[in-house]
Amino acid sequence: MTQSSPTATGSQIRRDAPPIIDVRDVHKHFGSFHALRGVNLRVQPGEVVVVIGPSGSGKSTFIRTINALDPHDGGQITVDSIPLDGKGNLDAIRREVGMVFQSFNLFPHLTVLENITLAPTRVRKTSKADAEKRGLELLRRVGIEEQAHKYPAQLSGGQQQRVAIARALAMEPKVMLFDEPTSALDPEMIKEVLDVMKELARTGMTMLVVTHEMGFAREVADRILFFDQGNIVEDTTPEAFYQNPQHERARAFLSKIL
Ligand code: ADP
Ligand code: MG
Repeated sequence: MTQSSPTATGSQIRRDAPPIIDVRDVHKHFGSFHALRGVNLRVQPGEVVVVIGPSGSGKSTFIRTINALDPHDGGQITVDSIPLDGKGNLDAIRREVGMVFQSFNLFPHLTVLENITLAPTRVRKTSKADAEKRGLELLRRVGIEEQAHKYPAQLSGGQQQRVAIARALAMEPKVMLFDEPTSALDPEMIKEVLDVMKELARTGMTMLVVTHEMGFAREVADRILFFDQGNIVEDTTPEAFYQNPQHERARAFLSKIL
């Protein structure tokens, strides 16, 4: 039996469980470019980790390696004790890890509900009726049940991103990765997406979120990682990060965005 206790941020960290994400000395090259340079990270179940850093520092590359969208080429990654070693366990990893992108990536020719039921029926072999029932519950949870039979192009950006979150949740992942989920949204739609993410954090979901939304980070993050030149140069609490960033690049970055 693992203990979980709500934190000040409302998340539910299980500190005595094994880490759900375990990254050791991970490297990634694109040709001769060294994009990840020996990254180490352990994330406990229920933790909400916000990843920030300058453009080009490797944030997207890093979270893409965690669900093997980009294979890493040095070091070890395990997710829920499943090693990402290229040995045919990709499906298992992708069932564990949901991902939400800046650009929504919904299938334009499928309705909202079809977008959500596609993977559960194909990959998890859930019946269509069960997948639709659960899909409608998820749409209710993200506040857009009435949009179920529309096509993505008929929805606002904020609504599309909430569909993308519901679609990822339909696979019942243990970890959710978000790569700048609100960066492509008009300002008035950012809050509706962040509110869904806050609610998800409160349910105990483990989340790794690349975002420059500092209000969200302060309110919801248990930890902040600051990336610079392919590595984590600061790994600390939001309070410590904002009050007294240790790294010169982090100070410079904060002075620009705050
Ligand atoms: P961030 O998300 O922090 O802005 P990225 O992880 O997207 O940074 O990129 C890190 C570095 O790796 C950048 O210099 C980028 O140009 C390079 N990079 C990312 N993806 C590729 C790719 N597919 N091919 C070549 N270089 C890439
Ligand atoms: Mg990026």
